[in-house]
Amino acid sequence: MSFLDRTARSLLLTELVSGLALTFRYMFRRKVTLNYPYEKGPLSPRFRGEHALRRYPNGEERCIACKLCEAICPAQAITIEAEPRADGSRRTTRYDIDMTKCIYCGLCEEACPVDAIVEGPNFEFATETREELFYDKARLLANGERWERELAERLRADAPYR
Ligand code: SF4
Ligand code: SF4
Repeated sequence: MSFLDRTARSLLLTELVSGLALTFRYMFRRKVTLNYPYEKGPLSPRFRGEHALRRYPNGEERCIACKLCEAICPAQAITIEAEPRADGSRRTTRYDIDMTKCIYCGLCEEACPVDAIVEGPNFEFATETREELFYDKARLLANGERWERELAERLRADAPYR
């Protein structure tokens, strides 16, 4: 056996032993990865995920059709149409968000005087078609109903810092 063979073998053995030692060391440490989607990490109350339109507890829409969100949206992703109701209050007849344009800046939520449009904790809304990302008012209100508990909690948690 040549000297080079012996050196190569001993190098290989050293690598093997140090590799095994590393494996055992990490085997008993706290895990740094998550078994997503079964495990999920914590989200900040300011996390900017999927949009939702909220209602008051009595069921009335919060949105007063002031259009501040539409005006401030840098991506021009929001389209609103509105008209007065019989009782004189103003409400939207159309509220669309083109989620393919949205950059999740959160300015719509910041601008809203009545916490109607919000970005919630949902980040799992991938779609198979582009059309599914054109959200209309019904879809946004449905999101609001689905996530209201989490949305209200997040707004409460963040309120002292606003
Ligand atoms: S998060 Fe930003 S880009 Fe998206 S709709 Fe709101 S204002 Fe527009
Ligand atoms: S969601 Fe808020 S900012 Fe946008 S039109 Fe309605 S009330 Fe105004």
